[in-house]
Amino acid sequence: MPKNPIEKYYHKDFPKQYQNPPGIQKEMDPVPDCGENSYEGSGQLKGRKALITGGDSGIGRAAAIAYAREGADVAINYLPVEEPDAQEVKELIEQEGRKAILLPGDLREEEFSRSLVQDAVKELGGLDALVLVAGKQQAVEDIADLTTEQLVSTFETNVFSMYWMVQEALPHMPEGSSIITTSSVEAYNPSPLLPDYAATKSAIVGFTKSMSKQLSSRGIRVNSVAPGPFWSALQISGGQPQENIPKFGKETPETPLQRAGQPVELSGIYVFLASEQASYVTGHVYSATGGLNAN
Ligand code: NAD
Ligand code: MG
Repeated sequence: MPKNPIEKYYHKDFPKQYQNPPGIQKEMDPVPDCGENSYEGSGQLKGRKALITGGDSGIGRAAAIAYAREGADVAINYLPVEEPDAQEVKELIEQEGRKAILLPGDLREEEFSRSLVQDAVKELGGLDALVLVAGKQQAVEDIADLTTEQLVSTFETNVFSMYWMVQEALPHMPEGSSIITTSSVEAYNPSPLLPDYAATKSAIVGFTKSMSKQLSSRGIRVNSVAPGPFWSALQISGGQPQENIPKFGKETPETPLQRAGQPVELSGIYVFLASEQASYVTGHVYSATGGLNAN
């Protein structure tokens, strides 16, 4: 039986809870649902080799679990402090009999971003899915309070690292490979609280569309996923002011489906975009926003 989408996942108010960024998902209340107990694979990514950034938690973790259950070997990147979340993902991937490669490090460093790709290629024995999910979001109510440090750090994490990783990965990616970026409803319908973050998400859309045209002749597809409000560590570690947390996805922002999304609700989109079923899909931005206007 199909389920009412409003009631399908957690839809009560969230308790306020602050953690220093990037936040540890296993300490959240409630813990985001990344499909640990629900995602079922059907061989859609059999034998594939994927590098997923931000794979320890939230949306990247949902993709990592789904990719493994669809038959892929998976390398994940995350920040070293997120090791407890990453260890859980490793265990979940290995339970599927797939290879799980843990490659912690800071994507703001060019040298690391490049060596991450090389290490993933070496450990996986190739690479045919580059799934860029890592991101930084810190709310700032007044542009006067936006520090240059934050501005640079948000762009380095969300935008620059993408260029470095794609440059490094392309020589290794065969025809039929897929690159997937993670933009946001913020690219199209920005919040007043996210002047730097929203601009990085627009930049990601521009990069994705440009790359889809540049790489089509090589048989490589490039697409983006644009989520609306999803319950994750990003939001409780400064992505939203704490006063917005209880009604997150209900009133802040107000979505027609009246609740925040759970990361597992994006698993299918990340799988589809990497799979053979999406062979005619490139340069596209796929949204799941609970009904918020996304373009
Ligand atoms: P999350 O906190 O679970 O994941 C973000 C991940 O980014 C972290 O786990 C961390 O590993 C990684 N990261 C941050 N800074 C990094 C750095 N310097 N080096 C390496 N890794 C770094 O939160 P999430 O919501 O799952 O976020 C995943 C992606 O989804 C982000 O790009 C975010 O912008 C995007 N997104 C989230 C929402 C939402 O409402 N949660 C909405 C739209 C887009
Ligand atoms: Mg994390």
